Amino acid sequence: MRRYAQLMDEPDALAIAARLSQLIRIPTLSGDQEAFDRFVDALRELFPLVHANLESERIGERAQLYRWRGTSDRDPLILMAHIDVVPASTDEGWSRDPFSGAIVDGWVHGRGALDDKGPLVVILEAVEKLLSEGFRPARDVYLSFGGDEEALGGEAENTARVIAERGITPFLVLDEGGAVVDAPLPFVSGRAAMIGVGEKGVVTMRLEAVGDGGHASAPNGPSAIDRIVRALRRLSPATFPPRTPRTITRMLEILRPRAGRAGGLALGAMARLPWLTGRILGALGGEPAALVRTTIAATRTAGGSADNVLPPSASATLNLRLIPGDTVASVRRRVERRIADARVTVTVSEGADPSPESPIDGPEFAAVTAAVREAYPDALPTPYLMMQASDARFFHRRFPAVYRFAPLEMSREQRSSVHGPDERVEASSLERGRAFHTALIRGLA
Ligand SMILES: [Zn+2]
Repeated sequence: MRRYAQLMDEPDALAIAARLSQLIRIPTLSGDQEAFDRFVDALRELFPLVHANLESERIGERAQLYRWRGTSDRDPLILMAHIDVVPASTDEGWSRDPFSGAIVDGWVHGRGALDDKGPLVVILEAVEKLLSEGFRPARDVYLSFGGDEEALGGEAENTARVIAERGITPFLVLDEGGAVVDAPLPFVSGRAAMIGVGEKGVVTMRLEAVGDGGHASAPNGPSAIDRIVRALRRLSPATFPPRTPRTITRMLEILRPRAGRAGGLALGAMARLPWLTGRILGALGGEPAALVRTTIAATRTAGGSADNVLPPSASATLNLRLIPGDTVASVRRRVERRIADARVTVTVSEGADPSPESPIDGPEFAAVTAAVREAYPDALPTPYLMMQASDARFFHRRFPAVYRFAPLEMSREQRSSVHGPDERVEASSLERGRAFHTALIRGLA
């Protein structure tokens, strides 16, 4: 029965793919107003019922807000996505033109397929389909599409403020973030729907060292470059000890049945002993370690002006991602203490504290997991913390129930294509993404 239904739906998957393909062809690089306007016009053509039935408005220059009036005035659902994409060019290793939107063997290729035009399209597909069936939601549904997420701009902040000023406290906000993935941890098998219930903070820090300068033939004491190198050495990964956020403990409990016998015992012990989780995941490095510690990475260095001159100054840029419990001020203090060099100054050029963690036990999270079960019956809904910063953080500062999940399948390989070459999404997954939003909106009753 199920097989038959899937076959019947195949033309739908391809139709969704074709609409996404058209939108990928508009290169909405952050800051390109003309492309943004063209994109919004294209939406009008591709989703006529949405535009005939929903109120829409522009907030600032590049944020689009739609309101679908529900049958009650209960707190609304807000579905978020962003229109802008990061640049892409064929010489970065793309196998085809990143803005051609090619559809090959059931896959849609191109910049934005996953981040974030695919997730945006499946929201509109769901609303368009429900409207065609004469459906009205039990609460208002807002669609909030930002235009400068990739540029870490302020459009979403604006939108969140406008919504708050109208006296609205959403029941649930859903933005990009996690996805449906295979083997969510090295020792856990099967598929999981990773739902971000919070996001790490982010800090950009600049270290500047001064030295005495002079001719390189007679060095005397550490130069500015020596000081920067020493400072970076002192900032080993252990600068921030592992500490397990509440959400990660819950994640392990939920994944335990999927970890086999020995793995299950290990995850059970880790869920009971958060310090052990910190040690183990911390030792694994990479993504697992990033779940349990504030990470620190040097991203730029600069210094020196000539081959034979001692540099009077040198600098390094650090990128830090903060787990809940740390703050911009606390990590700055710790970095200064570790460096312990009065001639190295530390300035924070950009900083955002970690978001709060949204509830996992309430009706909001349950609404998301119910929709996951509908669209991806074999994927285990699992809370986690998002590593990257997203537009959702602006909403999370004001509203209590903010989740980060794009209802699309993303293999490890696909995830690395986000902001990289050969970004692509499978048409069948787009259809499931639509099924997710359809179920979520229907479930508001
Ligand atoms: Zn994105």
